[in-house]
Amino acid sequence: MAKQVEIKYTQLFIDNEFVDAVSGRKFSTINPANGEVIAEISEGDKADVDKAVDAAKRAFARNSKWRKMDPYDRGQLMHKLADLITRDLDYIATLETRDNGKTYASAVGDIEAGIACLRYYAGWCDKIQGNTIPTGDTYVTLTRREPIGVVGQIIPWNYPFLMLIWKWGPALATGCTLILKPAEQTPLTALYTAALAKEAGFPAGVINVIPGYGPTAGAAIAEHSEIHKVAFTGSTEVGHAIMAAAAKSNLKRVSLELGGKSPLVIFDDVDVKEAAEIAHDAIFVNHGQCCCAGSRTFVHSKIYDEFVKHAKQLALAKKVGDPFDSKIDQGPQIDQEQLNKIMDLINSGKQQGAVVEVGGNRIGETGYFVQPTIFSNVTDDMRIAKEEIFGPVQTILKFDTMDEVIERANRTNYGLASGIITKDINKALEFAQAIESGSVWVNCYDAITSQAPFGGFKQSGIGRELGEEGLNEYLEIKTISIKVTKNN
Ligand code: ADP
Repeated sequence: MAKQVEIKYTQLFIDNEFVDAVSGRKFSTINPANGEVIAEISEGDKADVDKAVDAAKRAFARNSKWRKMDPYDRGQLMHKLADLITRDLDYIATLETRDNGKTYASAVGDIEAGIACLRYYAGWCDKIQGNTIPTGDTYVTLTRREPIGVVGQIIPWNYPFLMLIWKWGPALATGCTLILKPAEQTPLTALYTAALAKEAGFPAGVINVIPGYGPTAGAAIAEHSEIHKVAFTGSTEVGHAIMAAAAKSNLKRVSLELGGKSPLVIFDDVDVKEAAEIAHDAIFVNHGQCCCAGSRTFVHSKIYDEFVKHAKQLALAKKVGDPFDSKIDQGPQIDQEQLNKIMDLINSGKQQGAVVEVGGNRIGETGYFVQPTIFSNVTDDMRIAKEEIFGPVQTILKFDTMDEVIERANRTNYGLASGIITKDINKALEFAQAIESGSVWVNCYDAITSQAPFGGFKQSGIGRELGEEGLNEYLEIKTISIKVTKNN
């Protein structure tokens, strides 16, 4: 089933070298399309994180090559890395599809989006400016915006390459040095991109990649007293643990991009077929494995039945199978654990009285495939309306008024994204002002670009990624005050 691809790197990347883990341990990375082992990967732990931190500290030391580098040249290095990723795009996308199970076309889309993001941040390197501040005649006061230093980055498995670039882009642009832990399910593209960073000419120790498990390698990063910032993308539950570890260790800065249960609200003045298409993509993209997935589809009662009919047609037309086959729309879920979680939630929906319009079952026994599933007659109290499913499951809820739908949409601890589909600009603006979420998409969904901030309200996160706000998460502000001595 899987396209063959040579696996070139399986060891930890520390100080520009591929090395075994101190413990000598390895773990398997699995092809989710068939459950087979792709490769044995060195398993990093605290001892390896310590080594990587030492390398990152040396790279960040005063007068190091990286610290002395002209910011323009730092930007050129990032562009060079983007060039090498472009050269090897097919190889990286193939690795990603093999390790993650997303379709090859969507892997290509992720790599292209990553290249654009890296180039966006490359452009920032020589534009990170401070201020001069009026403080009277006695002092000249100015600010410098300086890199935080050694940073740790922990990323999930759903967009392995793209999440790496979202993390590396601002860290490198600001001049930090970094230790990244990819998810244990998907280490391959991170290791390959580390090799490209060396080829591009990044000095030793600027970039370090430690594959391994969360409670060991991940926790060692979150607890490390010489890492001064941790950036995390993953579950809300682990986000709590990261913040607690940061508080207990050295008060390192924390940015978190966590879960969601994002509402997409569809009013009765729309082209119902078009709205159903937007809502379909909002939930089914990346097999539902998307933190900002439009996972609560609120549909006005006047068009509810017609909407469900179109949504069903779209789900029925979806082809599930080998992610390397260009006719396939949906590959496998990431692993057995996620499959079990999705099936448990689907079963809860059935038991709590939602109507299965389409799907509702696993496909076959090999690989982790799930039928595109649609539930209608969903009510707010059901688990499928409250918990993040992270699978190809659309839950369609009914509403009547703006006030009602805003209140229900906001009745969640999450607040990552939201959407509204309507022809009425006043409805769109009223919703955009009232909804508690970091992104609001009007007549579209997932309109994410490198230039615009992305992140969550409430328990969907702390801080923002992308845009200038994403850069600020990697900067300290230093105020310099210079006394003016008068000559007379
Ligand atoms: P998901 O539910 O999407 O797998 P997780 O939050 O479990 O998300 O994992 C996201 C990332 O966090 C992965 O790289 C994982 O290894 C890491 N991780 C999991 N547990 C911890 C932990 N206790 N400390 C630090 N990192 C962790």
